[in-house]
Amino acid sequence: MRVLLIEDEVRLAETVRRGLVAEGMLVDVAHDGDQGLFAAQTQGYDVIVLDIMLPKRNGYDVCRDLRASEIWTPVLILTAKDGEYDEVDAFDLGADDYLTKPFSFVVLVARLRSLVRRGAPERPTLLVAGDLSLDPATREVLRAGQAVSLTPREFGLLQYLLRHRGDVLSKTEILDNVWDLHYDGADNVVEVYVGYLRRKIDTPFGRSAIETIRGAGYRLAGDGG
Ligand code: CA
Repeated sequence: MRVLLIEDEVRLAETVRRGLVAEGMLVDVAHDGDQGLFAAQTQGYDVIVLDIMLPKRNGYDVCRDLRASEIWTPVLILTAKDGEYDEVDAFDLGADDYLTKPFSFVVLVARLRSLVRRGAPERPTLLVAGDLSLDPATREVLRAGQAVSLTPREFGLLQYLLRHRGDVLSKTEILDNVWDLHYDGADNVVEVYVGYLRRKIDTPFGRSAIETIRGAGYRLAGDGG
C-alpha cells in the first residue's frame, strides 16, 4: 500500500511516516503543495493524506487540481480544529474523508485502510444550483443547458459561490478564498469579477443568481436565481 503524505509540519510528518511504515505501508512525504501535487500526478499512490494549510499551494488547491487532472486517488484531508475549512468543504473539494487535528494514529490507519478497500471511484463532485452547474473535474459550466466559458478566476469565484450557495459571503472571505492570500491589488476586484460573472451566467439568461447584500457581501441563490 503506497501512501503519499503531504504535510509541512516536518516533525508531525516524520512521526506519521514512521508509524505508517511500521504498519507495512510505503510512504512518500511532500512538505509543500506543489511538491505534493507533482508527486500525486506522477506516481501511483493508493491513498493520499493531505494537510490543508500548506506552503506554495494549499490542500484545497491540491485536491481540486488533482481531480481536475482526473486523478481519483482517495484523499484524506487533515483539518485544523480552528481551520477555515470544515468537513463539508473537504467533501466538496473531492476529498473522500477527513480527520481533525490532533488525530489518533490508530484512527488514521483504520481510515486509510478503509479508503484503500473502497478504491477510487470516478466521482467528481458536481456543484449545482438550479439549472446552473459547475463540474470541477472537467471544468465545464452549464447554464440552462448551455455551456458557459469562464476565465480561471471567474471559474474560481463561481466555484466558491456555489460551494457556499445560499450563504452571504463577505468581500473579504471571497478575496481570501478565491484570490491569493497576499493579493494587494485593487480593493474593488471582487465587485469587478462579480460583474463579469453576472454578465456570463445571469444577464444573458434573464436571471439574477448573484445577489448583492448591501453592506454584507454577496449570495448565490440556492435555486440558481
Ligand atoms: Ca500545515
